[in-house]
Amino acid sequence: MASFSDLGLNGELVEALGRQGITEPFEVQTECIPMLLDGVDVACRAPTGSGKTLAFGLPLLQNLPQAEPHRPTGLILTPTRELAEQILNVLKPLAKAMNLFVGSVYGGVSYKNQHRMMERGVDVLVACPGRLLDLMDSGVIVLGDTVNVVIDEADRMADMGFMEPVSDVLDRCSEQAHVVLFSATLDDDVAQFVERYQHDPAVVEIGDADVSVTHMDHHFWLMPNSKKSTISAELVRKCGRSVVFCRTRAGVDRVAEEMEEDGISIQALHGGMTQRQRDRAMETFVHGECMALVATDVAARGLDVEGVNCVVHYDPPENGKAYKHRSGRTARGGASGVVVALVQKPQKKMYSRMQRDVGINEDFVPPDFLALPEFEVDYIPPEPRRTTKKQRERHRKDRAQQGNRFGGGQGRGGGGNRGYRGGGQGRGGGGGGNRGYRGGGQGRGGGGGGNRGYRGGGQGRGGGQGRGGGQGRGGGQGRGGGQGRGGGGGQGRGGGRSNRGQR
Ligand code: ADP
Ligand code: MG
Repeated sequence: MASFSDLGLNGELVEALGRQGITEPFEVQTECIPMLLDGVDVACRAPTGSGKTLAFGLPLLQNLPQAEPHRPTGLILTPTRELAEQILNVLKPLAKAMNLFVGSVYGGVSYKNQHRMMERGVDVLVACPGRLLDLMDSGVIVLGDTVNVVIDEADRMADMGFMEPVSDVLDRCSEQAHVVLFSATLDDDVAQFVERYQHDPAVVEIGDADVSVTHMDHHFWLMPNSKKSTISAELVRKCGRSVVFCRTRAGVDRVAEEMEEDGISIQALHGGMTQRQRDRAMETFVHGECMALVATDVAARGLDVEGVNCVVHYDPPENGKAYKHRSGRTARGGASGVVVALVQKPQKKMYSRMQRDVGINEDFVPPDFLALPEFEVDYIPPEPRRTTKKQRERHRKDRAQQGNRFGGGQGRGGGGNRGYRGGGQGRGGGGGGNRGYRGGGQGRGGGGGGNRGYRGGGQGRGGGQGRGGGQGRGGGQGRGGGQGRGGGGGQGRGGGRSNRGQR
């Protein structure tokens, strides 16, 4: 098998790779690197996880002239901030070995640092199209010297509506720029990029014609909407590290909150969060400090997190392609993985169609945890919620509007759907409410006829996070306790109707 040196890479890069334990090129690297070193425009289709970053990054770094301030010589376009950061982190140590500087620009963060960075000079710029165009308009970035351009995740760019901005960027690069393109598919819109911006491209195709999802375990579980959060939480308990996909930002926030109430440590990730929040969420998940990431499709592609055992389609993906990309977060690098779609009856037809698109054929069945493979799971309890003042104010407002939630203090929760109680005394949860949570303190949690009533730390015990152990009654239909799994002290749950009252 060829080594990286055999492919034509210089000693500095080979050594820098070796320091990271990377010694044998992957197929996409073996195919692409020699051609890219020769200056051929390559259009490469390869599945997620196949090693595209090094395939374009290494030859880019080897060939690149040094940049003047504001005038990067190499440019890598990528659709999301997370991907930009990932590419940056892969290239940084390699660039250092070549005495080159890699920097990134993307939206959602202040302009100041990006201005300063460009002022100092950036050889390889990793950029999301929107912010890049902004900075080009204000003259902070000039692409006249840019001789090497990489379009990464071109299909994703097209899906996210970046055809036009990317075209704008490419139109403003030098005519002679060497343009390479990487994508999970080369059809439709991507074909237009190839045609318009590449000269006599060599097409490299690795693996199956699309992201392969045949090596995962697919399950389609029928359930009403009201069960979806509980089932998701149970899936995470059973499978360990998971990514749960929702359709909307509001959906992510809601599901994250519900799963957390169910005792699962989660991080939410969606486009409505600030960059810092997103970074922190990703870091926490990547470092294994929480069990699940609840995300919109922003996180569906390209993110390379090891050891994700399960992907949950909480809301249906937009189409077969999205199903594959979401599902591709698990079973990476030959590992096994479980994919579970939570299907409501009216969605069956659409999911059937999707199955055909994707090339799988699975029955729709009631939730069956026994059908899942065994995973070794480290249970990580949720941290006390850290919310910003603004979020708390918004929640308070929401609550006031709905008149059915209760944020601490005394008194009764209304008769609405959910009654939360913070500390303090009195009753939480509403009369006929569906769910009543109780925090520490005294009194009853859970509503009279409610479906679920959690009771937090009873009389002075447990308490803490509102789900403290404690011997109380779970409101609703019966008593908590039972054969629960114990989160132990502060984390247990007095499960109302649930057969798993945890203490
Ligand atoms: P893609 O962009 O195709 O989805 P990445 O470039 O993100 O894939 O690479 C996927 C994973 O494979 C990363 O964790 C990366 O460090 C690893 N990797 C890439 N090339 C090699 C190699 N030659 N040897 C070992 N690991 C590699
Ligand atoms: Mg990639």
